[in-house]
Amino acid sequence: MLISPQVKMQNSAGEWCAPAAIGLFVLVLVAPNFVFVHNAANVPEASYIEGISYAVCFWALVFSVVSQLWIGLSTLAVCSLWWPLEVYLRLRFAQPVTPTFVGMAMDTDVREASEFLVATGWIELLPAILFSSGAIVLARHLYRKRSRWTHRSRLWVLFAVATILTALMLAHAEMGDGSDTTEPFANRAGSMAALFATVYPLDLPLSVIWVYQDASVIKRLRAGLTGFNFEPRLADAHPDTVVLVIGESSRADRWQLLGYRRKTTPRLSATDNLILFTDVVTQSVATRYAVPNLVSRRPVLTSAGKVALRAEPSILAAMKQVGYRTSWLSNQGVGGFYESPIAMYAGDADEAIYLNPTSYDARGTYDEALLAPLRRRLETEGKKFIVLHTLGSHFDFSHRYPSSFDVYRPSLTTVPAQDGVKQNTLLATQISNAYDNSIQYTDSVLSQVIEAVDHKGDAAVVMYISDHGQDVFDEQCKAKSITRASSHSFIVPALIWSSAKARQRIGDRLSALSDSRTQPKVANSVPQTLLDLVGVATPSEARTPSWFDQEHGPRKVYSAQGWTDFDKSVARDACEIKP
Ligand SMILES: [Zn+2]
Repeated sequence: MLISPQVKMQNSAGEWCAPAAIGLFVLVLVAPNFVFVHNAANVPEASYIEGISYAVCFWALVFSVVSQLWIGLSTLAVCSLWWPLEVYLRLRFAQPVTPTFVGMAMDTDVREASEFLVATGWIELLPAILFSSGAIVLARHLYRKRSRWTHRSRLWVLFAVATILTALMLAHAEMGDGSDTTEPFANRAGSMAALFATVYPLDLPLSVIWVYQDASVIKRLRAGLTGFNFEPRLADAHPDTVVLVIGESSRADRWQLLGYRRKTTPRLSATDNLILFTDVVTQSVATRYAVPNLVSRRPVLTSAGKVALRAEPSILAAMKQVGYRTSWLSNQGVGGFYESPIAMYAGDADEAIYLNPTSYDARGTYDEALLAPLRRRLETEGKKFIVLHTLGSHFDFSHRYPSSFDVYRPSLTTVPAQDGVKQNTLLATQISNAYDNSIQYTDSVLSQVIEAVDHKGDAAVVMYISDHGQDVFDEQCKAKSITRASSHSFIVPALIWSSAKARQRIGDRLSALSDSRTQPKVANSVPQTLLDLVGVATPSEARTPSWFDQEHGPRKVYSAQGWTDFDKSVARDACEIKP
């Protein structure tokens, strides 16, 4: 880059000083893009080199479109402020700044946030502050000199950047804009915008915009629900502590407790006072609908993704209305297409705490991150209802457990990160082993949850249920990819643990559930079941089906091809649930 010849520099060395400094600044700002990010945007085409190219193009555009150099430098100074954060997230989690991270930083109490946010002080930020100050000093100098980039090289750069960007965008011409007119939340996965969102420094501004967009959709969907009164009455006999653990992608037939040949649940198998439900089916195999079904009797979005005509807040709101302090502790994300419909319900809680600075795309934090915040809340006085939202067995399975749980081998830990693992049947053994390891880790976390609750000695119940199952190249079904199509994706593990004091108080209700534990059940009856178990009565016309009911209708589930009767579909072909 050459400074305008009209600007008289004091000496010939000075003429090259500013462009060289600008070049150095740009290089430092492009550098984080050299750290590989793992499939953060669900864009398989998002190649490593392409991300770096976009970063270079971005800065070339900033300086060539706005010929005044101080404006480009000021932009550099602002973007450098989250440079250390960007480098940390990329090195530690192979992720850029995402809507999940922005949402977490906005929603989570600083004391509960991940170790990075807690530990970060001015020392870590010092390089960014120095860098930013340097850019500002130079910008001020160039502003006073009225330095502009007027050399014809500016036009060459503009032309080159325009050509490169056009070529890259044409290469992605088949990519959608992520819009779906029937879906209230924008699905940006696979769009050009999602690709740009993996590039520093575009990632933070795009994430902030998306978090606000999703928040406004949540606000609109929930407009009619504020102040909703469940008219609840709490029975005298009730537990003081209620913990609902929401599992992720855990299929029932891989649980030792439910008959699996491998010892995947050794700790729970040795735990007393468990009621184990052996035939529970989820209505949806998509997390964004399955999780709301577990906490709301009438979710805002149906399992088919439609806005429901008659919706109500989650049972967290009902529990709050009868005096329980409600907490939502999550190891999943807060923002984005997949997370927003869940965050919508977490918002009913007195507090929503997000502990994972990444999303299901990355290794992120293990589910044990939930234990310390749980223990702190168990120590507080008064009635409490705590929801733990885990990452359980979400793909990549080997990202879900520490190395000490890598028991069944070879697992995916030996397979380098690459596109196409989900479709690679040659890795069936590695995938299956990693999946079983993740179940064994869930067994450990869930056992620690129960121990922590038991240790407190309250009248307490802990319920665990997975949102849906998972197909992992089964011997029977010969799936072509890790998918959710067979009965294994619909049948979920579910259990209830109770403390001695709880059994004294609500033993009759626990016995009733225990008596029916092998009967066919649906997961979307969990909210009403929990209200019945705790002893929260609501007007009879507001009731929905419960596991306490003697009779149940057909188990309607929503498959990729539409609504179907689960049991009839299994009778036809257990490998593909469809109408
Ligand atoms: Zn899920």
